[in-house]
Amino acid sequence: MSLLSVIVPCYNEEDSVALFHEELIKNDPFFLQEGIDLELLYIDDGSRDATVAEVKKIIEADPRVHLVSFSRNFGKEAAMFAGLEKAKGDYVVIMDVDLQDPPGLLPEMFAGLKEGYDSVATRRVSRKGEPPIRSFFARRFYRLMKKISKTEMMDGARDYRLMTRQMVDAILSMQEYNRFTKGIFGWVGFKTKWLEYENVERARGETKWNFWKLLMYSFDGIIAFSTAPLMISSVMGVVMCIVAFIMILFIIVRKLIFGDPVSGWPSMVCIILLTSGINFFCTGILGQYLARTYLEVKRRPIYLVKEEI
Ligand code: UDP
Ligand code: MG
Repeated sequence: MSLLSVIVPCYNEEDSVALFHEELIKNDPFFLQEGIDLELLYIDDGSRDATVAEVKKIIEADPRVHLVSFSRNFGKEAAMFAGLEKAKGDYVVIMDVDLQDPPGLLPEMFAGLKEGYDSVATRRVSRKGEPPIRSFFARRFYRLMKKISKTEMMDGARDYRLMTRQMVDAILSMQEYNRFTKGIFGWVGFKTKWLEYENVERARGETKWNFWKLLMYSFDGIIAFSTAPLMISSVMGVVMCIVAFIMILFIIVRKLIFGDPVSGWPSMVCIILLTSGINFFCTGILGQYLARTYLEVKRRPIYLVKEEI
């Protein structure tokens, strides 16, 4: 028998947990046939509703189920990391509880591992049902990342991914505090098979991500997996110096030929504003990296457990 650990991050999902469990265990005949034991880890990310009570109900009926409950909301990244740390399985899969990661794909994912892949990942080929503005910026993000980062990130990739123990250990060896799992999956490498499927809308409850949160998350991704913004600010400094040098030459030559008519304070103000703006912009970029470094250096725990069953 081999063991499969299913990691399910949950944050305020009281309506979804039971439904998800029902859908997942529809795979039981397949697991039995393949000789796979199941270990289910519900990671409660500091929910303020009855999520924990719902999971406890499931635990009473099904001994394969475990609960890890955080002391507060640490975010999905922390929940996934906790799940990976606690998982004992030979294979590990991460799934959302809202059924946007269809449990019915699991047999196909296992088939991928049998073909010799280390990991089988999923991506949505459509984004139907998603607000258009969110889709637009998501596409921009992946396009930008392709240009500025060496780490491969697939457009539409979900965190729904089946991995071998070897890959899980590789991910766990990355103990960084600012976690961006989509990048980490790509960074560790290994042979990955991609399964594609049409977007599924959330079964119950509401998304935990608003536009602002996603925007901030995308900055996390950029800063964690690219140093291009730092390069851009250096290049901008050099370009400004060259422009300034040319202007100095121009003014000196003009003075020598035409004398020095007093004029141009509006242009002066514009130039001062522009240069100081660029200055602040570049300092800001530097600050973003420094802030992340600061958080990283403090070595705070990624999550804190309040209850574990
Ligand atoms: N989630 C979490 N902590 C959070 C936010 C979300 O554990 O702070 C979980 C959530 O319960 C769900 C998964 O992460 O199982 C995906 O969240 P959601 O469906 O809201 O994201 P979307 O599918 O809209 O990107
Ligand atoms: Mg969802």
